[in-house]
Amino acid sequence: MDIFQRVIERPGSIGKYQKEAHGYFSFPKLEGEISSRMIFRGKEKLVWSLNNYIGLANHPEVRKADAEAAAKYGMAYPMGARMMSGQTKYHEELENKLADFAEKEKCFLLNYGYQGIMSIIDAMADRNDVIVYDSECHASIMDGIFLHKAKGGKSFVYPHNDIERAEKMLRFATKRIEETNGGILFITEGVYGMAGDLGKLDKISALKDKYEFRILVDDAHGFGTMGEHGKGSGEHFGVQDKIDLYFGTFAKAMAGIGAFVAGKEEIIDFLMYNMRSQTFAKSLPMPMVIGALKRLELLKSEPQLRKQLWDVASALQKGLKEEGFDLGVTESPVTPVYLKGGVPEATNLIFDLREKHDVFCSVVVYPVVPKGVILLRLIPTAMHSLEDVKYTIDAFNAVKDKLDSGEYASMGMVNANK
Ligand code: PMP
Repeated sequence: MDIFQRVIERPGSIGKYQKEAHGYFSFPKLEGEISSRMIFRGKEKLVWSLNNYIGLANHPEVRKADAEAAAKYGMAYPMGARMMSGQTKYHEELENKLADFAEKEKCFLLNYGYQGIMSIIDAMADRNDVIVYDSECHASIMDGIFLHKAKGGKSFVYPHNDIERAEKMLRFATKRIEETNGGILFITEGVYGMAGDLGKLDKISALKDKYEFRILVDDAHGFGTMGEHGKGSGEHFGVQDKIDLYFGTFAKAMAGIGAFVAGKEEIIDFLMYNMRSQTFAKSLPMPMVIGALKRLELLKSEPQLRKQLWDVASALQKGLKEEGFDLGVTESPVTPVYLKGGVPEATNLIFDLREKHDVFCSVVVYPVVPKGVILLRLIPTAMHSLEDVKYTIDAFNAVKDKLDSGEYASMGMVNANK
């Protein structure tokens, strides 16, 4: 069969809704300045779907640093991979400051989090090693594990945050490496970005007393939001020193692009010379690096931004729970609201929220969540106010009443492009 014909016939589990959803439920355009209010299809909405946790995206000092760096260096500089011709003192300065902040010996910048974490896994684990990982790890981690499997490596998955089963997998892995003479890489997230619960870093690191393994933590959502100083989930649990490789991205609290990995000097040196995604790809452009330096400075010097984030997140979560909404097991600012219904109900509910109440949040349906579950995902930020919280809870109550009465179910799927 012709490949083009096949992809046209099988557009994928989300792609099959493209005609009705494109530009509205998927690929919506949020316009205007990045803030808690943005323009969607010509009208202002209260937006809860930006990973701008501590509001750095439009911070005046950030905008100034970004603009000045772009004016001075353009977007092209430096013109090669770090190893060949892409090294600058600013890349090194950012790495040194991130290492210091993450309480690690050394740090290496990564162009994107996605290919970065994939490539860390690829570089760290050879075919004799075993990977033990949580079943809800992010797609980028899964792709790294696919690379490991493609090399003939073995992996053991444990059900999400089930530490007993994780220990069992460590036992299997330990047995396996007795035969291969390899090692064990244990991978968890710090904050699970959909459900908002935390990887049990305290319990996982305690297993080091019984088993020999190295821990890689993907703290995409935890870096800048968790812990007393925003150092992340390791700081939150008081186990940062037990994390062997700490990964963070600039795409969330840092409101930028790029990522980093931090750990022991010799291991970071190894990654600098062995990560394919960095060796064979162009270095992060200067404005990203200089902009990240400014963001990191503010993340450290303006703790009130994190306090505001948590004040908003706590009020939102408390208020929704008091109204009887099911928020699952979140322990972070990520605020999932679980409702019951299929795709047609989800589209009508979101349409109502956006058009009648001017509230914009993301929606997730099957196959990302089980059939019959509608997940509305809200990301509170330091840009939101307690009035925004109250307004949103009222709007949620209104749409929930309609959902419960069966009104949305009787309406059929919304075609946003008719
Ligand atoms: N890991 C996790 C847990 C994520 O949520 C994401 C998504 N941002 C990534 C990795 C990829 O990061 P990036 O957006 O920097 O590519």
